Amino acid sequence: MTTSAQIPSDVPSEGAITADGTVTDRLVDANGRYAAAFTDPGMDARPVLHVAVVACMDARLDLHAALGLELGDCHTIRNAGGVVTDDVIRSLTISQRALGTRSVVLIHHTGCGLESLTEEFRHDLEMEVGQRPSWAVEGFRDVDQDVRQSIQKVRTSPFLLHTDDVRGFVFDVKTGLLREITPA
Ligand SMILES: [Zn+2]
Repeated sequence: MTTSAQIPSDVPSEGAITADGTVTDRLVDANGRYAAAFTDPGMDARPVLHVAVVACMDARLDLHAALGLELGDCHTIRNAGGVVTDDVIRSLTISQRALGTRSVVLIHHTGCGLESLTEEFRHDLEMEVGQRPSWAVEGFRDVDQDVRQSIQKVRTSPFLLHTDDVRGFVFDVKTGLLREITPA
């Protein structure tokens, strides 16, 4: 397990087992406390603010806190890089056509892991496991440019009903501030 397709990690390969059980046990315990204090908010599934946010999965990006969002306000669609893949378009299409959202907010961030990955990652993976992944790595060098391209992909998708309010930003993980990217 030493190929360059792997990102170094401090996490033991068998999962983070502590005296209190696995990390998943910890999450399930937390859920028990959450549910104990939970009351049915009586909402339907349509986002209150009619907005879908597409963002990187980065652990430093707390979307609800950073954007002042509350439960029920928005759809959040996250993946590595916050890149607009076919599957993101699938989710946005369902978000708009079945659940009434109109606006799209795209968020990349500073210090993204995707900036240091290239399609070599895919090649190395193929060499290691003997199978070429069907997906692209979607790595990028210039985060601003990738946001621009993402805006363009959403705006030109034939599947979406609403493409007039699509804006893109870079979240600074050191300051917590969003910087808006001017579309191409
Ligand atoms: Zn990222």
